[in-house]
Amino acid sequence: MADPKQVDRLKLAFRIASDAWDTAAARTLPGEVACRSGCFGCCVGLFDISLPEAALVREGVARLSARDREDVVRRARQIVEETAAAFPGDARAGLLDPERSEESDDDYFAVVADRACPMLELPSGRCRIYEERPITCRTYGFAWSKDAAVFHPPCGLNLPGAPEERQRETSIDIDGLDQAEDVAREIATELGLEPGSETTIPHAVLGSAFGPPPG
Ligand code: SF4
Repeated sequence: MADPKQVDRLKLAFRIASDAWDTAAARTLPGEVACRSGCFGCCVGLFDISLPEAALVREGVARLSARDREDVVRRARQIVEETAAAFPGDARAGLLDPERSEESDDDYFAVVADRACPMLELPSGRCRIYEERPITCRTYGFAWSKDAAVFHPPCGLNLPGAPEERQRETSIDIDGLDQAEDVAREIATELGLEPGSETTIPHAVLGSAFGPPPG
C-alpha cells in the first residue's frame, strides 16, 4: 500500500508521538507511572486508526516470522468475524463508515472492549509491531490534553488518585502531534485514500481494502 519512502516518513513522523510520551514521563515523580515491559492493559480493547497507520501496521505484520504472522491473522480473523454484525461500516473491506453515528461507534467499541489486540504477544505482553505501532499506542498511559484542558484521563494504573491539575501537568498535548497527523494526511492523499477514513488494527490486517491478508 505505502512505498518504502512513505513508510520511513510515517515512522519518522510518528516518533513525535513517542517523544511526547517520553517528555510526559520525564515530568513524573517516582511511583507515579506503572508502565513497564509486560504490562498490556492498554492493548486490550480496540480503537480506530487512520489508513496510513493501517499501512504501517501491515508493514509491521509483513516483517514478522511466519509463526507470528499466522497467529496475528488467526486472532484478527476471530475478532473481525465475531464482531462483524456490530461493525459500523464495511467489515469485509475493513473500513469504518465516515458517516457513522457516535452511538454506533460507541456501541461497537463497547463490544470489542475486552478483545486483545492481535499484535499483542501473550503471555509476554510484548507488542509484535512496536516500531510500526499507531499513534494512540505511542501516547497511551498519560492524560491527553487540548487547549490546556484534559479530555482523556491517564491509564488507571498511572498517577493513582492524582487531581486533574497533576494529570494536566503530565499530559500529552494532542496539538503537539499535529505534525505527525499532517504527514499521515499527506500520505493518505498520495495514496489516493480518503484522509478521514478509519479502520481498526484487526481490520487493517484482514480488510479487502488493504490487499490480501499477509501470508
Ligand atoms: S499495536 Fe502493539 S502497542 Fe498497539 S495495541 Fe496492539 S499490541 Fe498494543
